[in-house]
Amino acid sequence: MTIDRTTGIGVTILGSGTCVPSLARSACAALMTAGSSHLLFDAGPGSMRRLLEAGVRIQELSHLCITHFHPDHTGELAPLLFANKYPDASLRREPLTLMGGPGFLDFLTRLEGVYGAWIKLDAGMCEMIETPPDGRLNYAAGGWHLETIPVRHNPESVAYRLSLEGGPAVVYSGDTDYSENLVQLARNTDLLICEAARPDEQPVAGHLTPSMAGRMASEAGARKLMLTHFYPDCDDVDLVAQCRRTYDGPVVLAQDLMHLEVS
Ligand SMILES: [Zn+2]
Ligand SMILES: [Zn+2]
Repeated sequence: MTIDRTTGIGVTILGSGTCVPSLARSACAALMTAGSSHLLFDAGPGSMRRLLEAGVRIQELSHLCITHFHPDHTGELAPLLFANKYPDASLRREPLTLMGGPGFLDFLTRLEGVYGAWIKLDAGMCEMIETPPDGRLNYAAGGWHLETIPVRHNPESVAYRLSLEGGPAVVYSGDTDYSENLVQLARNTDLLICEAARPDEQPVAGHLTPSMAGRMASEAGARKLMLTHFYPDCDDVDLVAQCRRTYDGPVVLAQDLMHLEVS
């Protein structure tokens, strides 16, 4: 079956886990394909290997969208930039756009301060974009549109909404506590990929539980909810049942390399 990327968004979860090393779950990353673009949301440890397993080469990534600077979301950023140089930089045919919330350019400068030229792409092959200080950015390319909004986790934390012109929309929460902004961004979205790091019985500030994620999905009118970013404490818990306390739409529990077509 050929997939029409002008009317649908392909979503592949590359990492459904956390900072806790796991053979089953890499740290946070989600690949989305829209039009001819491959957008990677977060680059936690293990992302590159999962990207290869999903059949996409490093040099085919067009956009790398970071939600915040915690290592479980950025740990593979430097190796990923470095990997663009092997076997030589000519394999990359179009620039890589790096995107993040307030302070992102400074974050990249500091990373370059450590790794120097090893993580610098050739001239014209890298574009860096930082949202305005309010965390709200609108960005359009190739028939799709990206919007960011600040969420409640770190000062630089933003969530992303990827939408096709006249087509579906997917929202990626990053890490957050309950957030009215996220509800607003996820209004009528076809898929909300939302962190639910902790079970209902063990909430922690700055993160969500399944029923909190479900509440936001209900308030937003999200048509489908995917929970992700599971700490090991989630392993033996019925997360769907907890989510059902607040949301009655379709619920999916993310697994590494799970693929969804959103149309
Ligand atoms: Zn975090
Ligand atoms: Zn995290």
